Amino acid sequence: MRNFTFYNPTRIHFGEGQISKLGRDVPAGSRVLVTHGGGSIFQNGVWQQVEEALAGYQLVRFGGIEANPQFDTLVRAAELAKAESCDFIVAVGGGSVIDGSKFIAAAACYEGDPLDLLSGKRITAALPMGCVLTLAATGSESNPHGVVTHVARQEKLPFSSALLYPRFAILDPRTTFSLPPRQIGNGVVDAFVHTIEQYLTYPADAPLQDRYAEGLLLTLIEEGPKALANPDDYAVRANLMWCATQALNGLLGCGVPQDWSTHMIGHELTALYHIDHAQTLAVVLPALLAERRQVKREKLLQYASRVWGLKEGDEEQRIDSAIQATRDFFKRMGVPTRLSEHGLDADVIPQVLAQLERHGMTALSERRDLDLEISERILLRAL
Ligand code: NAP
Ligand code: FE
Repeated sequence: MRNFTFYNPTRIHFGEGQISKLGRDVPAGSRVLVTHGGGSIFQNGVWQQVEEALAGYQLVRFGGIEANPQFDTLVRAAELAKAESCDFIVAVGGGSVIDGSKFIAAAACYEGDPLDLLSGKRITAALPMGCVLTLAATGSESNPHGVVTHVARQEKLPFSSALLYPRFAILDPRTTFSLPPRQIGNGVVDAFVHTIEQYLTYPADAPLQDRYAEGLLLTLIEEGPKALANPDDYAVRANLMWCATQALNGLLGCGVPQDWSTHMIGHELTALYHIDHAQTLAVVLPALLAERRQVKREKLLQYASRVWGLKEGDEEQRIDSAIQATRDFFKRMGVPTRLSEHGLDADVIPQVLAQLERHGMTALSERRDLDLEISERILLRAL
């Protein structure tokens, strides 16, 4: 077990009807920028609940934050927040709206070029923010991270700051009933891969962290398909929502090595070819596990045994079967696992590698040894 510091200040209000608590955590007298996406909140009754709960506050609404939120849109929102002197942000939506609102929170307090905030410059001030989550997937509702797309530069750039933890997150599983099947599948796959990236590395004398990760993976495997089959099952949605939050709220990664290669390669695929975030992960992860079977050997065998119940056959067979089971699970969630299913062939690989190089993604993984050559082999396996 490695040393760690754990900090997570986000207050979680979980359960049906909790949106009514929204007013309690927004300071009285705040001028609130309410952010949202393309309109799903007007169709599923979430906006009505938000508006009721925030009666008495001065609201400035900013809608139209895209999936994979775009820099230019967010800069416009930050300018609006400045012009209207907003002093609190309430984000209502999925990971894109929440990530985007984190960027708005920082950009609204920054006098220089907002692009600096995506170029590694330390964020030193941000508006306080809270959120109402409508899509269980990213964990953004209680973490300090965000990812913003710069369309003209074909880049998807991550940023992070302890100042960006949402002050509160409202998780009402009922808000997710209106998700289309594609987003249910995406959400389960994203949470699954977040868990894997903090688990499937090398043994680190952290049995509790291992059991915790395996508990999340098993729950996602058991409950995920039920959400597709019975979209109105509250208990299923509730468990998935709580899984997704815990998969990336920082606790799971305490004391253990982490490997974010799948996300880093995936981000380039979204930036270049506009593939949904989770769909890039479903393509990259099985290929990465196959390519990295030697360095991840011990944990792959543990994963095969404890998560997939694979105890028969020799070690190579068990590893093969675990990777196949992972691929089959993604397919069961309706998420394709091959680049060719997204209409991409080997011709795209040089472009992906060039982007990885441009972004300094040349020493990825828990061992910092995943270079461009290995990335190329992973992408070839992903075809
Ligand atoms: P999303 O991009 O926020 O939303 C996807 C789609 O789902 C949107 O079209 C949205 O429509 C719709 N939607 C959301 N809630 C809905 C509901 N309750 N009913 C019906 N439709 C609904 O999806 P996401 O997977 O949550 O977020 C993906 C983004 O998060 C990516 O940019 C990814 O890179 C990032 N990410 C962040 C982290 C992190 O730690 N911060 C981790 C992983 C990924 P509307 O626009 O109309 O609402
Ligand atoms: Fe993710």
